[in-house]
Amino acid sequence: MSGARAILHVDMDAFFASVEVREDPRLRGLPVLVGGAGRRGVVAAASYEARKFGCRSAQPMAVALRLCPHAVVVAPRHELYAEVSRAVFAVFERFSPLVEGLSIDEAFIDLAGTERLWGPPRRAAEALQAAVLAETALTCSVGIAGVKFLAKIASGMHKPNGLTEIAAGSELEFLATLPIGELWGVGPRTQEKLARRGVATVGDLRRFGEAALVEMFGAHGLHMHRLSLGIDERAVVPDRAAKSLGHEDTYAVDVVGVPELRRCLLSQATRVADRLVAQGLRARCVCLKIRDGEFVTETRQCTLPRATDDHREIHGAACRLLEAVDTDGRGFRLTGVSVSQFESPQAEQQQLDLLAPASEPPPRSAALQAVLSAVRERHGHQALFPAEAGSERRPGTTGAITHSRPSEPPKRRR
Ligand SMILES: [Mg+2]
Repeated sequence: MSGARAILHVDMDAFFASVEVREDPRLRGLPVLVGGAGRRGVVAAASYEARKFGCRSAQPMAVALRLCPHAVVVAPRHELYAEVSRAVFAVFERFSPLVEGLSIDEAFIDLAGTERLWGPPRRAAEALQAAVLAETALTCSVGIAGVKFLAKIASGMHKPNGLTEIAAGSELEFLATLPIGELWGVGPRTQEKLARRGVATVGDLRRFGEAALVEMFGAHGLHMHRLSLGIDERAVVPDRAAKSLGHEDTYAVDVVGVPELRRCLLSQATRVADRLVAQGLRARCVCLKIRDGEFVTETRQCTLPRATDDHREIHGAACRLLEAVDTDGRGFRLTGVSVSQFESPQAEQQQLDLLAPASEPPPRSAALQAVLSAVRERHGHQALFPAEAGSERRPGTTGAITHSRPSEPPKRRR
């Protein structure tokens, strides 16, 4: 794939369980379940020995122990995993500056411009696996492809310690027999609907065609059609350069349905806009993050024609991004809105002066947004919250402000 884009997806093998085995060699070769042992405990990681019995992460511990009664249950030690994660990411970052963490043990690495140093992608991937093993005594699986979603599928194909390359030109052949459920963000309801139309594989999906998919699923149909052709234009966005500002909420009860999701996003867009105003910034890039009840996390982003600090524009962009998410039959435990690509209002005004015709109106509601933000700043967030947002917090919600700067260590999404 010389000359073509090469993206690695690296995924540590049974990460928490492997770390526990490393720390206590007596566990080697045994079925190990990391997670809470209580009645409501959930498996956070299962060793490969435990997976042979059908145990897997996100399974209730009670179910896993029915499947494998002799498994060793280990309480999670998240600080230790975070420390090991930092060591693993430090190795990744030696191979390319373009490292995007997906979770504590998983990252995309864009190998653009690294060929002189590391050789062709496969050799770079082998060197990376060797370095991770030498420095952390842990194995990882790597997928190599020209686009993100194919690299991610590839890394899961030969676990553990696997290396799978989907060479340039072989993408369509690879996708032809792949079940559509393997595509990122295609949920069970969508699979069911398509199964009724005789669509089971990505090859079937491609033959089903763009028009039919768009008719059935709207923007998400178009997204699936593009995936079926191996098209995925999302870039690897390095954590260090993300420099974003955002707000996300985790819900005690999964959020279901587009209207309710839009209300959640409005609350978050409003908080983000307030913080932009407080910092005298406007942003051009809006990012939606959404995590379903099965802990599948999706992020989507778009660039606005011009920088904004208006909650309605940010909310509108987040809602358009939501249209490309398969919400059918899925409940969501987390939503978040963040913005990046900051500009100061002065710089933007100068651009407008230079580029826009004289009749171009100034950003519609900048003054209003500043007043609203000032009132909320003084009287708390309840004051002047947009009526459409409904009650400002769902019961049991935990909110988190997300903020990253280039100087901070990369933010890990768990
Ligand atoms: Mg993993």
